[in-house]
Amino acid sequence: MLGAILKKEACAECRFCCAFRKTSLWEVPVFTRENTEAIKKNQNLDSSVLEPLDKRLFGNTETDIADYLSDYSVYDLTDCYQTDDPEEEVPCPYLGRNGCILSAEEKPWDCKIWPLRVMRTEGGDVVIALTPTCPEINKINLNDVKKFVNENLRDELLSYAKSHPYLIKEYREDFPIL
Ligand code: SF4
Ligand code: SF4
Repeated sequence: MLGAILKKEACAECRFCCAFRKTSLWEVPVFTRENTEAIKKNQNLDSSVLEPLDKRLFGNTETDIADYLSDYSVYDLTDCYQTDDPEEEVPCPYLGRNGCILSAEEKPWDCKIWPLRVMRTEGGDVVIALTPTCPEINKINLNDVKKFVNENLRDELLSYAKSHPYLIKEYREDFPIL
């Protein structure tokens, strides 16, 4: 989504956002029902790693909200770490040798918009923020990123987030708001 200002080649070298430390497991992408169904149809992909988001949040409750949440899936990397090193990174199951192996239909919105995040502040405002750890985006002036997002992406991002509220992350204070 930020292809116009973020070079593909730089991402191919980096891949930072496709592997997760224990402390960044909250960042694993959330798959919509459409993503999950597309993945299930693709025989080259393992869909068994995906589990409904409601199990994470509510156990096996049978409430209306749990039914709604089961439209969203995530994978659980908790047991994949080999050491206690907080710097250890575990790759996303859909990271191949040449990058992400998912098609546009299969790829989560979280990944399409990265390093942008749509977040909810403590006060309940929904904001667009920038992940502070992307090395390439940090080379660009923040005001230029903000201008690009305002002119090209803001309405689309907020509208999609509004219709998919469980994709909105809790705000973290080190994320600059755009
Ligand atoms: S962290 Fe930034 S530069 Fe690295 S792969 Fe992700 S978007 Fe690209
Ligand atoms: S789904 Fe693709 S883009 Fe998203 S984290 Fe996994 S490998 Fe990276």
